[in-house]
Amino acid sequence: APHGAAPLAGQGRHPAFDVHAVRRDFPVLSERVNGRQLVWFDNAATTHKPQAVIDRISHFYAHENSNIHRAAHALAARATDAYEGARQRVKDFINAPDVNEVIFVRGTTEAINLVAKSWGAQHIGEGDEIIVSHLEHHANIVPWQQLAAAKGARLRVIPVDDSGQVLLDEYQKLLNDRTRLVAVTQVSNALGTVVPVKEIVALAHRAGAKALVDGAQSISHMRVDVQDIGADFFVFSGHKVFGPTGIGVVWGRREVLEDMPPWQGGGNMIADVTFEKTVFQPIPNKFEAGTGNIADAVGLGAAIDYVNRIGIEAIARYEHELLAYGMQHLGGVPGVRLIGTAADKASVMSFVLSGYSTEEVGRALNEEGIAVRTGHHCAQPILRRFGVETTVRPSLAFYNTFDEVDRLLDVVRRLAAQRR
Ligand code: PLP
Repeated sequence: APHGAAPLAGQGRHPAFDVHAVRRDFPVLSERVNGRQLVWFDNAATTHKPQAVIDRISHFYAHENSNIHRAAHALAARATDAYEGARQRVKDFINAPDVNEVIFVRGTTEAINLVAKSWGAQHIGEGDEIIVSHLEHHANIVPWQQLAAAKGARLRVIPVDDSGQVLLDEYQKLLNDRTRLVAVTQVSNALGTVVPVKEIVALAHRAGAKALVDGAQSISHMRVDVQDIGADFFVFSGHKVFGPTGIGVVWGRREVLEDMPPWQGGGNMIADVTFEKTVFQPIPNKFEAGTGNIADAVGLGAAIDYVNRIGIEAIARYEHELLAYGMQHLGGVPGVRLIGTAADKASVMSFVLSGYSTEEVGRALNEEGIAVRTGHHCAQPILRRFGVETTVRPSLAFYNTFDEVDRLLDVVRRLAAQRR
């Protein structure tokens, strides 16, 4: 049913689009696990790929495969067009002003390392300060820690309240004339908190600092507009937005990127090489040394086309209802403690169940064909902030259903009823 359709009778559920139709686009959702139809609630770790993405990658290898050097021959032109077409799709998807500001990398982790190694090496000095939030994934902590250690700089942390939302007052107190960079996630992978990145970026800029936004968890759940956010860098991974693994994006502001040195040297990124001196290509090639992940970039382009066909706003509305339903009922199960209860959340329902280890809950869910992640989710500092080392983390995508949430709730309620 299109958005605006009447709620399903008796359920008060308001489908913004036909979830059963979109599910048919994802072959893996028909898998059976332990005799049950797979329920994929591990979307924060990685998302599944629609047939359109699988077909596009296959088409690339069957009909277009070449290295990208347009002028050489017909297939080279096809491969180059496909690769640059994907770059254009990314540009439009995040509303970047300029396609050359889109750099392909392996994923969010490599994206952040690129910024740390290139921009960071150039701009961070002794006594300088880098601010991150308590919510960050290790990928947005460790590279800054390494940089700070190498440069004698200091890493500072925006604290969160008991709901898992960042404290903007405390953040403002951290900003000073030594602040060079503020690097924050848009959505927490461990808690699901939606962080007010636009305000954080504006305050960083007012203090004279640059800002990086980690979009790994936001890109598949909400409209991202890098011009509206206003940051200097926005990074994400293709595999978290229904695209392939091994491909991700750094978007950077043109003047910032142009000022940065290359972080890797080699082929593809040069204009001229002698033993005395190398002249680099302009952006984006300057940051894409060597043969890139051409096929998977093309696959990411197809994933973006797919998301655009469904509509990210329809996705966001539907997921919002699904998450509200899940949080409400999960929170009502005796012995469940929800970790992360901010008013603004996306996708993630982290919890612990008293009387059980998180591994035991994960195993019980897996026995029923339900995939969740249990563990520290590569975000140990924020879990420790809540006094836990691990949680059970169901994370939703638009292909999940209310029935699947009910299947999860059934297992958790059964465990809770048998509690030791
Ligand atoms: N940042 C956040 C918020 C994440 O959730 C993740 C992945 O879990 C990453 C960074 C790292 O992404 P990748 O492993 O694709 O490089």
